Amino acid sequence: MQTAMPRVVAGQSGTSEHELRKRFSAVSGWRGGLDLLGHWLAIVAVAWAATTVGHWAGYVLAAIIIAGLQHGLINLTHEAWHRLCFRNKRVNDVVGAWFYCYPVGMPYYHDRRRHWDHHRLIGRHDDPDWLNYSNDGRVPASRLLLFLGGRLLGSQLVVSVYNLLINRRARIEVQPASRDQRLPSPAAELVRVVACQVGLIGFFALIGPWWAYLVLWVWPLTGPASVFIAIRAFAEHASEDDDAPVDERLYDFSPNPLEAFFLSPCHSGYAVCDVASEL
Ligand SMILES: [Zn+2]
Repeated sequence: MQTAMPRVVAGQSGTSEHELRKRFSAVSGWRGGLDLLGHWLAIVAVAWAATTVGHWAGYVLAAIIIAGLQHGLINLTHEAWHRLCFRNKRVNDVVGAWFYCYPVGMPYYHDRRRHWDHHRLIGRHDDPDWLNYSNDGRVPASRLLLFLGGRLLGSQLVVSVYNLLINRRARIEVQPASRDQRLPSPAAELVRVVACQVGLIGFFALIGPWWAYLVLWVWPLTGPASVFIAIRAFAEHASEDDDAPVDERLYDFSPNPLEAFFLSPCHSGYAVCDVASEL
């Protein structure tokens, strides 16, 4: 995977950084619809193929492909947080919440607030996403492998459930003071997340055994997708120096198609979007 800083990309293409930001933040309704349909049709097709074939190897292959598509849903959630999926704000938020965010177990409005704080505080130790790209727990290489191995086995699910049930808060929580009281509360969003999971169980029970929900949805999400996301979130802003300033923490990536599918779906490899965001 090749990397470059945003201003280098802008210079190479003969386009100013401002023009590049404007181009990347233009909203295309047809592209938004294509992303929505493309991801869900692919998920349905892959799940249906695995349950029809019924071989364990087919389930494993399907789960890994679905993990890439789930990463895509998460990156589309990011686009929706920035109102970049659809021009109509209501359509943008309904699709972002119900078709992208809740199916992957995340609260849309709560995490949008958190993400906006991330943009404001990026590179600082009080950035709510700091734990995603700091060097804590990632050196030496054996600790990194242990971390990624743990992710593959579902450690993030364990931590999230522990925080929710025992600490009664999200893994990365927004301060109540910065929460917009007109928006659904985290508890209300949790109900919506559960409703989506019930719908997904129903879907899997319809096309095959009900436990396909665990093998083809829960495991991909909490195992391989969690690893793909950890790599992407770290690579986006990591630095060997934990005190490096923000302008040394924004990277563009030029992934090959396989890397793009699993590690930076939906063109998420362009850091210029991070500095371009209209919040
Ligand atoms: Zn963003």
